[in-house]
Amino acid sequence: MGHILTVIRHRRAVRKNCFRVGIPWRGIVHDLSKYSPAELIPGIRFYQGNRSPNERERELFGYSKAWLHHKGRNRHHFEYWNDVNMTTHRYEPVKMPAVFAVEMFCDRVGASKVYRGKNYTDADPLNYFLRGNARAKMHPETADELERRLRLLAEKGEKEAFAEIRAEVKAARRAEKEARRAEKKKLKGSPEK
Ligand SMILES: [Zn+2]
Repeated sequence: MGHILTVIRHRRAVRKNCFRVGIPWRGIVHDLSKYSPAELIPGIRFYQGNRSPNERERELFGYSKAWLHHKGRNRHHFEYWNDVNMTTHRYEPVKMPAVFAVEMFCDRVGASKVYRGKNYTDADPLNYFLRGNARAKMHPETADELERRLRLLAEKGEKEAFAEIRAEVKAARRAEKEARRAEKKKLKGSPEK
């Protein structure tokens, strides 16, 4: 069963990265929705081997139900982070919270590793990002952050890059906790709840 094997390999590679950057829970639950019937059945049915089954599904039906299901509930995808902008009234990319932005980094590194196999180098995930058009669809700060981390990996290697990102996760978690506390205070202080 090619598709299931692909999912197992991918999840293993990403999980390893997540543990190393200090987000083990994100590693454990990463892409678990791929085992839900809504994603698993099309995944097996449209299995390709050399490209995503979503692409085949799109070719046949104009859109991929499996992908819509996946991006709608997996917060490590920048596609999840789109919401109506209150000024423009259009859907626009939102900046990704730190933990999910780091999970996205781990996802890309893991995917590159599985895809490139023994030819993998630390520069592959950066090159893939620079070649692709993801940046245009992301919040600019999220794109800059991702590129900076991929550059760090390409230039300094895993050991140093992962340690640095681990420290960033720690700091971001602390900052988010404080922001939540401030928000609570603000809500309590506002006249209408
Ligand atoms: Zn995913």
